[in-house]
Amino acid sequence: MVAVTVYVICFRRLRAGGASCYERRQATVYSVAGPGRLRENPAHPAAGALQCHYFLQVVSGVASSFISRFLGAVSGVLLCMGALLPAHASHIVVDTGHTPQRPGATGASGRVEYLYNLDLSAEVADELKALGDRVTRVAADGAEVPLGKRALTAPTADFFMSIHHDSMQQKYIDAGRQHEFAGFAIFVSEKNPHYEQSLRCARAIGEQMLAAGEKPSLYHAEPIAGENRPLLDRRLGVHRFDGLAVLKTAPMPAVLVEAGVIVNPDEERRLARPYIIHRLAQAMARGAHACQDK
Ligand SMILES: [Zn+2]
Repeated sequence: MVAVTVYVICFRRLRAGGASCYERRQATVYSVAGPGRLRENPAHPAAGALQCHYFLQVVSGVASSFISRFLGAVSGVLLCMGALLPAHASHIVVDTGHTPQRPGATGASGRVEYLYNLDLSAEVADELKALGDRVTRVAADGAEVPLGKRALTAPTADFFMSIHHDSMQQKYIDAGRQHEFAGFAIFVSEKNPHYEQSLRCARAIGEQMLAAGEKPSLYHAEPIAGENRPLLDRRLGVHRFDGLAVLKTAPMPAVLVEAGVIVNPDEERRLARPYIIHRLAQAMARGAHACQDK
């Protein structure tokens, strides 16, 4: 086994007019146990005060003098990406599944789903705007919005995405099996008037989630009462759930994403980390944005 070194540089995203700029915050050296296996450094500031939004990895094999020069060159520099924004802008509705009055699932720690949805949907909205899209947020201000009216908040929008965090069947909680359930799930409804486009977007989001290192949960397809959702794409975690009110009442293509399972205490802790929230948001926004052009 060859010992290699990975230099990880943290960037913080800043807003400057319509452009997204990235400020270099800190470089950290990781040691790597083997090919492709990055050992997590518990002291890494990613989840904390430095608010890293992006990481640039410079992997071994590069002469260390080059790396020092490179780190010196980007030090303190603001990289602005505004000019790279795509010309095509879509209008996307980002729904914060649930409300304070109906907060959804309760995480293992007691923190409710609505708060997880709020954090993630805020980042998804930011990411979509950074890609050049127009965003309308629903249920982010705590107001009660009936499920059947959510997509109608912006009826002419191009796409509707409802953001949730998952629970599991009560019998599994009662049996102490919370640790067995983890991962994301994406739902589409055949009753949506744009089913094919909804499915295309669900797949695009699933691909981005996989690329971000997330894994699909497949337990919603289990043939039991309360689940039994037809699995349309096992690899990408895409299911059909025709009765979902937010999807079937949406006049535009629509998907519902369960980002992860907050009833699982390990998964809940992970889903609360700022850099995981950011990575999930980036994946969901990229998928939603990419499928608008197809
Ligand atoms: Zn929910």
